[in-house]
Amino acid sequence: MKVLMVASECAPFVKTGGLADVVGALPGALARVDVDAQVVLPAYPPLFPVLPEGEEVARFDDLPGGPGRLVRATVHGITLLLLDAPQLFDRPGGLYVDENGRDWSDNHLRFGALSMAGARIAMGAIEGYQPDVVHAHDWQAALAPVYMRMAGRDIPRSIITIHNIAFQGRFGPQVLGQLQLKTDWFHPEGLEFHGDLSFLKGALMFSDRITTVSPTYAREILTPEFGMGLDGVLQARSGALSGVLNGIDTEAWNPATDTALAQTYDAKTLKRKAANRVALSERLGLETRSDAPLFCVVSRLTNQKGLDALLEAVPHLVDRGAQLAVLGTGQPDLEKGFRDAAMAHPRQVATHIGYDEALSHLFQAGSDAILIPSRFEPCGLTQLYGLHYGTLPVVARTGGLADTVIDANVAAIVAKAATGFVFHEVSANGLAAVIDRVVEAYADPKLWQSMQRAAMRHPVSWDSSAQAYHDLYTELV
Ligand code: ADP
Repeated sequence: MKVLMVASECAPFVKTGGLADVVGALPGALARVDVDAQVVLPAYPPLFPVLPEGEEVARFDDLPGGPGRLVRATVHGITLLLLDAPQLFDRPGGLYVDENGRDWSDNHLRFGALSMAGARIAMGAIEGYQPDVVHAHDWQAALAPVYMRMAGRDIPRSIITIHNIAFQGRFGPQVLGQLQLKTDWFHPEGLEFHGDLSFLKGALMFSDRITTVSPTYAREILTPEFGMGLDGVLQARSGALSGVLNGIDTEAWNPATDTALAQTYDAKTLKRKAANRVALSERLGLETRSDAPLFCVVSRLTNQKGLDALLEAVPHLVDRGAQLAVLGTGQPDLEKGFRDAAMAHPRQVATHIGYDEALSHLFQAGSDAILIPSRFEPCGLTQLYGLHYGTLPVVARTGGLADTVIDANVAAIVAKAATGFVFHEVSANGLAAVIDRVVEAYADPKLWQSMQRAAMRHPVSWDSSAQAYHDLYTELV
């Protein structure tokens, strides 16, 4: 089985969020179930050193936004098909935004080109390589199934995976021509979404299957509350929709071997985890303590993640004697809010604004609990890292968070099944109440350790999800 992944991010090369982790880990996991997955990815500047080592396998002169070529290279065990189109991807700044945080004005061309390259490969652009399935990820790749359907030949099957339905790739209708899209497909049953072109809607209409990254999110996006305007479209295609939970890369994320930690540990040597709290506290200037939990946040700082509500609950957390360490970047108001909170409580709250992969590992290992009060969360990865590191997740009951964390209610505690704390209301009050529960549980070391061990036993690898994708591909083909 040959699967072509089309995606705009792939860890460890380029990452802004969970999408990259998934695209980076899935090919290796699929290889173990005999699926050969290759990834079409833009050649952004961090990938330039790879280009001379690769082999040019195709050239296109008429992609949206100009010409491009494909260079195949295998790095870190992942076979990449790099779309080398400097006019689109050779620039400083972010993957999607310029240095001032504004969307690149040609994002439709950049990701139209990525999608079209994917579709061309599907239709035989690379000699000797014919994928059976094209698996597109998120709006940036979402036109691939559309271009495939437009070509109208006996084409491979297609899947779109929604990692976050809030990002839809919406552009004015004037871009249709630049994207070489059929204007007679621009209507509500096709590519049109409230007068605009929507990349994601295109894929929802024209892919053979639609998946998202957890079963609960798959149900949630059928409702107006979570569907971000696409719930009607999804309902019409609900027979094609399913949820497959993400896993994590348990080689990159393994507390027993993680080189970013001050001290490695496993479920049998949990006591050694404490050295990481000391190291993290020293690094951040927090008071070194062990009488109350250290909570952490590793996240994009956005209202989606409920961090505005957490900010309001910081005084309560501090009153309870607990500590908080925040690692993230995002909305200026939240960055400032958490900086101010750290200034107001320098020994109990620390804020590190920035994106730092290695530090995120020490945050996971050095904290007792990880707070994820998201308003919606398609899957979420940081709770999975938390589980695997014995850092108990404290999560809102939504999406993948609800699917992966077992709340410390009485029945679950008795059954030794509880792995974290699940709460309902994303508000300062809701957070204060769950913080109280965590502080109380932490005061009972036997209970806490039993929960840590249950958390570390929780299966978080890609194995069962890779099998689920394998079954889906097989069914389609
Ligand atoms: P999302 O994709 O919505 O941002 P996920 O939980 O699915 O959320 O994935 C976020 C990923 O990004 C995780 O791997 C997390 O560890 C990482 N991450 C988020 N913010 C930072 C940061 N400031 N520094 C390092 N890693 C971060």
